[in-house]
Amino acid sequence: MSSLKKELFWRITITVIVVFVVIGVLSIFQLYLSGMKAARAFIRNVNNTVTSFINGYLRKFYVVVDVLSRIPEVRYAPYLTDEERRKVLEIYRIFQEADRDIYYLYSGYENGFLLINDYEPAEGYDPRVRPWYRAALESRPRPTGGIPYKEFKTKELLFSVSKVLTDDEGNVTGVISVETLLERLLRNFPRSFNNYETVTTYVLRDDQTIIIHPDESLLTMKISDVIGRNLPITGLSGEIEYEINGEKKMAYYSRIPELEWIVVTSVDKSELLRPILINVGIVSIFFTGIISLTTVFINNWFNGKVLKPLNSLKEDVEKIMVGRTPDVSSYPDNEIGTVSKEIYSLTERELYKKNQQLRNLNEKLEKLSVTDELTGLFNRRKMDEELEKEFHLWKRHRRPFSLLMIDIDDFKKVNDTYGHLVGDDVLKRVARLLVSSLRASDVVARWGGEEFLILCPETTLNEAMSLAERIRTKIEGETFENGLNVTVSIGVCEMKDHETIDDLLKEADDNLYLAKQRGKNRVVSG
Ligand code: GH3
Ligand code: MG
Ligand code: MG
Repeated sequence: MSSLKKELFWRITITVIVVFVVIGVLSIFQLYLSGMKAARAFIRNVNNTVTSFINGYLRKFYVVVDVLSRIPEVRYAPYLTDEERRKVLEIYRIFQEADRDIYYLYSGYENGFLLINDYEPAEGYDPRVRPWYRAALESRPRPTGGIPYKEFKTKELLFSVSKVLTDDEGNVTGVISVETLLERLLRNFPRSFNNYETVTTYVLRDDQTIIIHPDESLLTMKISDVIGRNLPITGLSGEIEYEINGEKKMAYYSRIPELEWIVVTSVDKSELLRPILINVGIVSIFFTGIISLTTVFINNWFNGKVLKPLNSLKEDVEKIMVGRTPDVSSYPDNEIGTVSKEIYSLTERELYKKNQQLRNLNEKLEKLSVTDELTGLFNRRKMDEELEKEFHLWKRHRRPFSLLMIDIDDFKKVNDTYGHLVGDDVLKRVARLLVSSLRASDVVARWGGEEFLILCPETTLNEAMSLAERIRTKIEGETFENGLNVTVSIGVCEMKDHETIDDLLKEADDNLYLAKQRGKNRVVSG
């Protein structure tokens, strides 16, 4: 993977992860908050339902004991005739039949007398020591709150509301009590709900004694005996949390002041959290999926739209570098494509320009490498090449050629008399004269200090001789600076049976030497 691709991959991936993790955490937090809110609202509703139900259920018992406690026959029953007492029992029966929730309706009196339908008290039964009787004395003149207790004979769990009866002077004559089966009350408690299984509603007295609980073994126990402390109940209603056997509970309580009851609805916190955790799990999986898909999508997109064109541009530039023509039609039709095309044509143009410059430079270099600086003629190196070529042609095709070795006579004197600069000037003028005397196919070079060599292809000795003679007379007739005249001696030879170029050159040199010896300013061909 290229470094840009790698970097982009990580940057995009990290950005996407950060964005979605932030969104995810916020969503999960929101889910948690709303989940907890819904759960709280749920247990509050259950609690309110139960509280309303209990209120309604017991209020009618209050009404019953209150109404009956005003009837003189009920208050003074011990002093009445049997006939009159039967009437009272008849009233009790009517009330019982009117409300099926009333299990027993009865009154006990200070003289130990008990007025009750369909019940035969056990031997030694004394109403004045029963819980309902004592409680009514304690809370007089108000009716008691709900008192749970076990029936003397049947051991059924009962629940009573009782109220003292007084005579006209306000002395206690007895207690009237209405009873219901605890089971009957509990039957009407909402037990389990669709949402939660651990929802429990129970009732405490103000002193936090458990008086109603689905678990009968807890009845009459103090809450502090069960959870080690009292519940932090302060107001009329509210939320509380506590722990029982390591299980954290969340609860909502409502107080019923008239009954001195506290209705508590609790639920296991772990159960509350379970659906929230499940939701959190689902949300997490969802976001993980989204993160993966988004990352792959963005990375692919970026790859296709940016990295690939960049890569093919890179390859194309490399192609141009090695002189191949790339296919520019593959660039995308967007900004990247436009830039790629621009870069492509720029590269091509630049490369072309550079090539051109290089070519010019090479030409100059080549020229420099074959040219004599002072005269502008070919140098000795170039002449060597030309001789070599011609020598090969002669060897293959027997194509004739001749050489003219030219040396300025007494040039030393020119330098000595007029100075080096004038000598240079003479050399340049002689060079120009030579060039103007030659055919296009002839090659002339500066062979040494004041020596020139002329190569004449397709030229016989005779032709070369006459060319040499022409050159000699031309230079002889030329007037240089300061009215100066110079002459040249020329050695001429034609390629015949020479073994090497050097042999041929030697012959030309020898002939030049002869010319010098014979008095200079002359042409010698051996
Ligand atoms: P000869 O007639 O025997 O050829 O006599 P010469 O004086 O021409 O020959 P010599 O070889 O003794 O001297 C050649 C002189 O040419 C010596 C040198 O100073 C001069 N010379 C060689 N190259 C240049 C050059 O580039 N410029 C100038 N001004 N003089 C040069
Ligand atoms: Mg010389
Ligand atoms: Mg000379």
